[in-house]
Amino acid sequence: MESQVRGSSPSSRDWVWYGGRPSIDFVNTLRDRFRGGRDLLLAPDDLTAWFTAARQQAAAPTGEPSAERLAVDDELLAQAVRLREAVDAGVRAVVAGTPFPEEAAEVINSWLARAAEHPLRLAVHDGRPTLQHTHRPADATTALVRIAVDAAEILGGEDRRRLKICTGNGCSARYYDKSPGGRRRWCSMSGCGNRAKAAQHRQRTAAE
Ligand SMILES: [Zn+2]
Repeated sequence: MESQVRGSSPSSRDWVWYGGRPSIDFVNTLRDRFRGGRDLLLAPDDLTAWFTAARQQAAAPTGEPSAERLAVDDELLAQAVRLREAVDAGVRAVVAGTPFPEEAAEVINSWLARAAEHPLRLAVHDGRPTLQHTHRPADATTALVRIAVDAAEILGGEDRRRLKICTGNGCSARYYDKSPGGRRRWCSMSGCGNRAKAAQHRQRTAAE
């Protein structure tokens, strides 16, 4: 049984990075949600590996030095999964236009309460201000606090309308639509987008 697997080899770690935001990429560590989900975070080491991979994804073009691995234990993994599912409950409510679940807000708030220990700053590059964390996360708990902050920024702001669930056949990946018009329909053009376009083309050709 898959749920009994204690950690997986790096090559089988099926991470995806089209979520558009760290917290949404984190939600997508439970894949195939449309059919009950396939969890990529089965063991503490999986979460450590995800943090490392997420950091590499986010690395500035200048290339920051790769940091040490963030240690995770069973307890923190359980808390992380709870945070992930709270964020997803929030995403689902936003996408469906239903009342925001109180329980999800409570879980996210329990992480935000620790955010004050991890200061933010307004950094200005080329005249544009961005809200940034002052330091790299020194441990896994801090990394999870940042995921909660990221989720709260999205869920608590008007840009929450950019949260979407991919309409691709057999996908259901969550993403934050960064396109200018906010009309993206698929998690990625190279995956679900191309498949949908090919299917449309086949239908048109068949109709003609
Ligand atoms: Zn998709």
